[in-house]
Amino acid sequence: MRTNILGCPIDKITMGQAVQKVASYINEKNIQNYRHIITLNAEILYKALSDQKLKAIINQADLVTPDGSGIVWASKQLGDPVPERVTGIDLMEALVREAGLQGWKLYFYGAAPGIAQLAAKNLQNKYKNLNIVGTKDGFISSDLMPELLADIKAKKPDILFVALGAPKQEFWINMYKDIIQVPVSIGVGGSFDVLAGKVKRAPKLFQKLHAEWLYRLIKEPWRYKRMMVLPKFILKIMQEKTNKRSS
Ligand code: UDP
Repeated sequence: MRTNILGCPIDKITMGQAVQKVASYINEKNIQNYRHIITLNAEILYKALSDQKLKAIINQADLVTPDGSGIVWASKQLGDPVPERVTGIDLMEALVREAGLQGWKLYFYGAAPGIAQLAAKNLQNKYKNLNIVGTKDGFISSDLMPELLADIKAKKPDILFVALGAPKQEFWINMYKDIIQVPVSIGVGGSFDVLAGKVKRAPKLFQKLHAEWLYRLIKEPWRYKRMMVLPKFILKIMQEKTNKRSS
């Protein structure tokens, strides 16, 4: 089941159900659909309103999870709520844990040189049976792209995590998923930086209050420009709510 926010679909699923869905994609026989998962936050949804290509990619994705309290709030306002937040970093952690249990192969692409490797090393220390078959930084020149695509395809991961930031990673996955032929690809933004221990996640209190965005704003004030879309997003949702009531 899906809800719809300003023309973008969002799956009404919990974290547990998202992990099950990924398992079902990986366990499909004769995989021909290479799945694209998007964890959609309010900022990217707002961007999609003026970017038709991005909107089309979101509409084509196999699974779109509600990434953040802005989306959860909007779904409630519009009368068709999603059950909970399923953020990129939380989903990645849950999938990595499951990969250790199921023997899934993982590939990490993105972030500054050395970060994907460090994140992989930290996770391998945490989950002893983890099989990370490849890592690559997200700043390679375009002439090295064919080599990267061939490496991903040859190593046959079950899940590819792409950390190029949104929406760059969504465009990348959409463009290359049929070439790399990985059962599940998912964009995870700044998650490798967190897993490598380079960036701290918001303390539990901020997470509980659903105010991780506020912590990020305090720690990385240069993000304020990106966050300026949030009041516009709220306004748009309130307008949509009024339109819905009067129609
Ligand atoms: N990044 C990358 N290649 C690029 C641009 C960005 O690998 O060409 C990485 C960057 O190093 C960081 C991540 O993408 O690890 C973006 O993180 P951010 O927190 O800005 O993404 P968001 O979660 O907001 O989408």
